[in-house]
Amino acid sequence: MTRSRLFVLAGPTAVGKGTVAAAMREQHPEVYLSVSATTRPPRPGEVDGVHYHFVDDATFDAMIADDELLEWATVHGVHRYGTPRAGVEAALAAGRPAMLEIDLQGARQVRRTMPDAVFVFLKPPSWEELVRRLVGRGTETEEERERRLATAKLELAAESEFDVTIINREVNAAVQELVALMIGSSAP
Ligand code: 5GP
Repeated sequence: MTRSRLFVLAGPTAVGKGTVAAAMREQHPEVYLSVSATTRPPRPGEVDGVHYHFVDDATFDAMIADDELLEWATVHGVHRYGTPRAGVEAALAAGRPAMLEIDLQGARQVRRTMPDAVFVFLKPPSWEELVRRLVGRGTETEEERERRLATAKLELAAESEFDVTIINREVNAAVQELVALMIGSSAP
Protein backbone atom coordinates (compact mmCIF):
# COMPACT_ATOMS: atom_id res chain seq x y z
CA MET A 1 0.00 0.00 0.00
CA THR A 2 2.14 2.84 -1.20
CA ARG A 3 -0.11 5.60 -2.48
CA SER A 4 -2.43 7.22 -0.02
CA ARG A 5 -6.09 6.78 -0.81
CA LEU A 6 -9.32 7.29 0.98
CA PHE A 7 -11.66 4.28 1.02
CA VAL A 8 -15.29 4.56 2.02
CA LEU A 9 -16.97 1.34 3.12
CA ALA A 10 -20.75 1.48 3.25
CA GLY A 11 -23.61 -1.00 3.17
CA PRO A 12 -26.78 -1.86 5.04
CA THR A 13 -27.14 -2.51 8.74
CA ALA A 14 -25.75 -5.80 10.08
CA VAL A 15 -24.01 -6.67 6.80
CA GLY A 16 -20.73 -6.87 8.75
CA LYS A 17 -19.03 -3.57 7.86
CA GLY A 18 -17.55 -3.18 11.33
CA THR A 19 -16.27 -6.76 11.42
CA VAL A 20 -14.74 -6.57 7.94
CA ALA A 21 -13.14 -3.17 8.61
CA ALA A 22 -11.70 -4.34 11.96
CA ALA A 23 -10.30 -7.55 10.43
CA MET A 24 -8.75 -5.58 7.57
CA ARG A 25 -7.16 -3.21 10.06
CA GLU A 26 -5.82 -6.14 12.08
CA GLN A 27 -4.01 -7.49 9.01
CA HIS A 28 -2.94 -4.04 7.81
CA PRO A 29 -2.26 -1.81 10.81
CA GLU A 30 -0.83 0.80 8.46
CA VAL A 31 -4.39 1.58 7.36
CA TYR A 32 -5.95 4.42 9.31
CA LEU A 33 -9.44 3.32 10.34
CA SER A 34 -11.41 6.40 11.31
CA VAL A 35 -13.19 6.31 14.69
CA SER A 36 -16.51 8.13 14.35
CA ALA A 37 -18.19 10.37 16.86
CA THR A 38 -21.75 9.40 17.76
CA THR A 39 -24.56 10.47 20.04
CA ARG A 40 -25.69 6.81 20.32
CA PRO A 41 -25.09 5.27 23.75
CA PRO A 42 -22.45 2.51 23.85
CA ARG A 43 -23.54 -1.11 23.44
CA PRO A 44 -22.20 -3.62 25.96
CA GLY A 45 -18.52 -4.14 25.25
CA GLU A 46 -18.04 -0.98 23.21
CA VAL A 47 -15.14 1.18 24.34
CA ASP A 48 -15.05 4.97 24.06
CA GLY A 49 -12.31 6.06 21.67
CA VAL A 50 -12.00 2.55 20.18
CA HIS A 51 -15.39 1.73 18.64
CA TYR A 52 -16.69 5.29 18.68
CA HIS A 53 -16.16 8.58 20.42
CA PHE A 54 -19.37 8.64 22.43
CA VAL A 55 -20.46 12.24 22.81
CA ASP A 56 -23.58 14.11 23.94
CA ASP A 57 -25.73 16.27 21.66
CA ALA A 58 -24.09 19.53 22.75
CA THR A 59 -20.62 18.19 21.96
CA PHE A 60 -21.80 16.93 18.57
CA ASP A 61 -23.35 20.35 17.84
CA ALA A 62 -20.04 22.01 18.72
CA MET A 63 -18.12 19.63 16.43
CA ILE A 64 -20.42 20.59 13.54
CA ALA A 65 -20.17 24.31 14.33
CA ASP A 66 -16.36 24.12 14.47
CA ASP A 67 -16.24 22.25 11.14
CA GLU A 68 -14.50 19.33 12.82
CA LEU A 69 -16.49 16.70 10.90
CA LEU A 70 -15.71 15.57 7.37
CA GLU A 71 -19.31 14.37 7.08
CA TRP A 72 -22.13 13.57 9.45
CA ALA A 73 -25.63 12.17 9.32
CA THR A 74 -28.60 11.16 11.43
CA VAL A 75 -28.68 7.41 10.90
CA HIS A 76 -31.81 5.27 11.24
CA GLY A 77 -33.66 8.47 12.15
CA VAL A 78 -32.34 8.61 15.69
CA HIS A 79 -28.69 9.21 16.51
CA ARG A 80 -26.06 11.31 14.81
CA TYR A 81 -22.76 9.91 13.56
CA GLY A 82 -19.83 11.79 12.06
CA THR A 83 -16.25 11.39 10.86
CA PRO A 84 -13.70 13.56 12.67
CA ARG A 85 -11.81 15.40 9.97
CA ALA A 86 -8.42 15.80 11.67
CA GLY A 87 -7.38 12.15 11.90
CA VAL A 88 -8.31 11.35 8.30
CA GLU A 89 -6.53 14.39 6.91
CA ALA A 90 -3.41 13.72 8.98
CA ALA A 91 -3.30 10.08 7.84
CA LEU A 92 -3.68 10.97 4.16
CA ALA A 93 -1.10 13.75 4.47
CA ALA A 94 1.30 11.21 6.00
CA GLY A 95 0.74 8.88 3.05
CA ARG A 96 -1.35 6.33 4.95
CA PRO A 97 -4.43 4.80 3.33
CA ALA A 98 -7.53 5.70 5.32
CA MET A 99 -10.87 3.97 5.61
CA LEU A 100 -14.24 5.30 6.70
CA GLU A 101 -17.02 2.88 7.66
CA ILE A 102 -20.10 5.07 7.30
CA ASP A 103 -23.69 5.09 6.11
CA LEU A 104 -25.05 5.94 2.67
CA GLN A 105 -25.81 9.59 3.50
CA GLY A 106 -22.25 10.05 4.73
CA ALA A 107 -20.82 8.30 1.66
CA ARG A 108 -22.76 10.68 -0.57
CA GLN A 109 -21.33 13.68 1.28
CA VAL A 110 -17.78 12.37 0.92
CA ARG A 111 -18.47 11.72 -2.78
CA ARG A 112 -19.14 15.46 -3.11
CA THR A 113 -16.23 16.72 -1.01
CA MET A 114 -13.60 14.07 -1.82
CA PRO A 115 -14.55 12.64 -5.22
CA ASP A 116 -11.22 10.82 -5.59
CA ALA A 117 -12.11 8.44 -2.77
CA VAL A 118 -12.89 4.81 -3.61
CA PHE A 119 -16.45 3.88 -2.67
CA VAL A 120 -16.99 0.26 -1.66
CA PHE A 121 -20.43 -1.25 -1.11
CA LEU A 122 -20.61 -4.25 1.21
CA LYS A 123 -23.62 -6.36 0.39
CA PRO A 124 -25.24 -9.36 2.11
CA PRO A 125 -25.60 -12.63 0.15
CA SER A 126 -29.39 -12.22 0.41
CA TRP A 127 -32.10 -10.21 2.15
CA GLU A 128 -32.94 -13.25 4.33
CA GLU A 129 -29.32 -13.48 5.47
CA LEU A 130 -29.28 -9.79 6.39
CA VAL A 131 -32.40 -10.21 8.54
CA ARG A 132 -30.88 -13.33 10.13
CA ARG A 133 -27.67 -11.44 11.02
CA LEU A 134 -29.56 -8.50 12.48
CA VAL A 135 -31.81 -10.71 14.60
CA GLY A 136 -28.87 -12.93 15.61
CA ARG A 137 -26.88 -9.93 16.79
CA GLY A 138 -29.59 -9.34 19.36
CA THR A 139 -28.48 -5.80 20.18
CA GLU A 140 -31.60 -3.97 18.96
CA THR A 141 -35.19 -3.84 20.12
CA GLU A 142 -37.90 -5.04 17.74
CA GLU A 143 -38.78 -1.42 16.91
CA GLU A 144 -35.13 -0.53 16.24
CA ARG A 145 -34.75 -3.63 14.06
CA GLU A 146 -37.73 -2.63 11.95
CA ARG A 147 -36.30 0.86 11.52
CA ARG A 148 -32.89 -0.50 10.52
CA LEU A 149 -34.42 -2.92 8.00
CA ALA A 150 -36.39 -0.07 6.43
CA THR A 151 -33.14 1.91 6.04
CA ALA A 152 -31.40 -1.21 4.72
CA LYS A 153 -33.92 -1.52 1.85
CA LEU A 154 -33.10 2.04 0.76
CA GLU A 155 -29.37 1.47 1.14
CA LEU A 156 -29.41 -1.72 -0.94
CA ALA A 157 -31.07 0.20 -3.74
CA ALA A 158 -28.05 2.56 -3.87
CA GLU A 159 -25.48 -0.09 -4.80
CA SER A 160 -24.98 1.34 -8.29
CA GLU A 161 -23.65 4.61 -6.81
CA PHE A 162 -20.55 2.75 -5.60
CA ASP A 163 -17.32 1.99 -7.45
CA VAL A 164 -17.08 -1.59 -6.23
CA THR A 165 -19.39 -4.16 -4.61
CA ILE A 166 -18.11 -6.84 -2.24
CA ILE A 167 -20.55 -9.55 -1.15
CA ASN A 168 -19.96 -10.48 2.47
CA ARG A 169 -20.57 -14.24 2.35
CA GLU A 170 -17.71 -14.94 4.71
CA VAL A 171 -15.63 -12.36 6.57
CA ASN A 172 -12.14 -13.53 5.59
CA ALA A 173 -13.00 -13.69 1.91
CA ALA A 174 -14.53 -10.21 2.03
CA VAL A 175 -11.44 -8.87 3.81
CA GLN A 176 -9.19 -10.40 1.14
CA GLU A 177 -11.22 -8.71 -1.58
CA LEU A 178 -11.00 -5.40 0.24
CA VAL A 179 -7.25 -5.69 0.76
CA ALA A 180 -6.73 -6.65 -2.89
CA LEU A 181 -8.70 -3.59 -3.90
CA MET A 182 -6.66 -1.29 -1.68
CA ILE A 183 -3.37 -2.71 -2.84
CA GLY A 184 -4.50 -2.83 -6.46
CA SER A 185 -5.64 0.77 -6.39
CA SER A 186 -2.29 1.92 -5.05
CA ALA A 187 -0.35 0.32 -7.89
CA PRO A 188 1.66 2.83 -9.90
P1 5GP B 1 -24.20 1.34 14.64
O1 5GP B 1 -25.17 2.10 15.51
O2 5GP B 1 -24.74 -0.02 14.28
O3 5GP B 1 -22.80 1.29 15.22
O4 5GP B 1 -24.06 2.15 13.27
C1 5GP B 1 -25.18 2.52 12.58
C2 5GP B 1 -24.79 3.05 11.23
O5 5GP B 1 -24.06 4.27 11.36
C3 5GP B 1 -23.92 2.13 10.39
O6 5GP B 1 -24.51 2.04 9.10
C4 5GP B 1 -22.61 2.84 10.32
O7 5GP B 1 -21.94 2.59 9.09
C5 5GP B 1 -23.04 4.28 10.41
N1 5GP B 1 -21.94 5.15 10.84
C6 5GP B 1 -20.99 4.89 11.75
N2 5GP B 1 -20.16 5.94 11.85
C7 5GP B 1 -20.57 6.85 10.96
C8 5GP B 1 -20.09 8.14 10.59
O8 5GP B 1 -19.10 8.65 11.08
N3 5GP B 1 -20.80 8.80 9.64
C9 5GP B 1 -21.91 8.27 9.05
N4 5GP B 1 -22.52 9.01 8.12
N5 5GP B 1 -22.38 7.07 9.37
C10 5GP B 1 -21.71 6.37 10.31
